[in-house]
Amino acid sequence: MPVHDPNAQRLHVSADLAQGSRLACTPEQINYLCNVLRLGEGASVLVFNGRDGEWQALLTGISKRGASLTIETQTRLQTKGPDIDYVFAPLKRSRLDYMVQKAAEMGVARLRPVLTQHTIAERVNLDRMRANAIEAAEQCGILHVPDVHEPEKFERMIDAWPPTRQLIFCDEEAPVSNAIAALRAVHQGPLAVIVGPEGGFSGKERALLRSKAYTVPLSLGPRILRADTAAIAALTLVNAVLGDWS
Ligand code: SAH
Repeated sequence: MPVHDPNAQRLHVSADLAQGSRLACTPEQINYLCNVLRLGEGASVLVFNGRDGEWQALLTGISKRGASLTIETQTRLQTKGPDIDYVFAPLKRSRLDYMVQKAAEMGVARLRPVLTQHTIAERVNLDRMRANAIEAAEQCGILHVPDVHEPEKFERMIDAWPPTRQLIFCDEEAPVSNAIAALRAVHQGPLAVIVGPEGGFSGKERALLRSKAYTVPLSLGPRILRADTAAIAALTLVNAVLGDWS
C-alpha cells in the first residue's frame, strides 16, 4: 500500500467509503474542487473520512446542479495516530487557528479546550476548530482528524480525569531539566498534554495539577514560550519520546 502522495489533492468527506460508492459533493466541496483547485471531469482526488482509510476517487457528473465523487481504489489503510489528548486554554482567533492546525499535524487524537482562571477566549468556535483540524489533515496527509471536544471548566475536567491517562503538565515554573529524560520516565499508555493560557495557570490550578499522581510536570526550557509555541515544543518532545516518531 503506497504511503501519502504529497502531490495529490486530498479531500475530507463524512460519508462511508467503499469501492464503487458514489458521493454527491456538497456545494463547498464543488467550490473547492472545481473553482479553487480548478479540477474538471474525470479528475482524480484522494478522499478520506477518518475511519475507512484513503481512497482514490474520480470527480464526475460536473454540472450546474452539482458533481459526484466515484470511489475507485483504496490507496491507504486507516491508521491511528498516538493516543494523545491535547488540552489547552483557548487563545485569540488567529493564534487558536494556528495552534489547532499544528496539534492536528502532530497527530493528536483529541483537541480539548479547557477554561482556566486566566483564559482569555471564553467562547470557542468549535466548527472553526473542526475546519482547521480538517484542513491540516487534508494538507498533511493525515488519515485521522482529531475529535474536537466542547470546552470544559478546569476543575471539572480534573475532577473527572481518568487516572490511567498520564497528564504531561507544561509548567513554566517547573525547574529547568532535561525534558527528554523527564519523558523517558513516563510509561507508555494513554497520554495528555496540557498547556495554559497566555497568562499562565493560577497558583491554585498549578497546585491542583501537581497534587495528582497522574501528572508529569515538564519544563520546556529556560525561556517563557507563547502558548502556541509551547504546544509545538511539547508535542514534538512527547511524540519523539512517547509518540509515533520512533
Ligand atoms: N505564566 C507566564 C507564561 C504563560 S505561557 C506568563 O504569565 O507570561 C502559556 C503556557 O505555555 C504556560 O501556561 C505553559 O503551559 C506553557 N509554557 C510556556 N513556557 C514554558 C516553559 N518554559 N516550560 C513549560 N511550559 C511552558
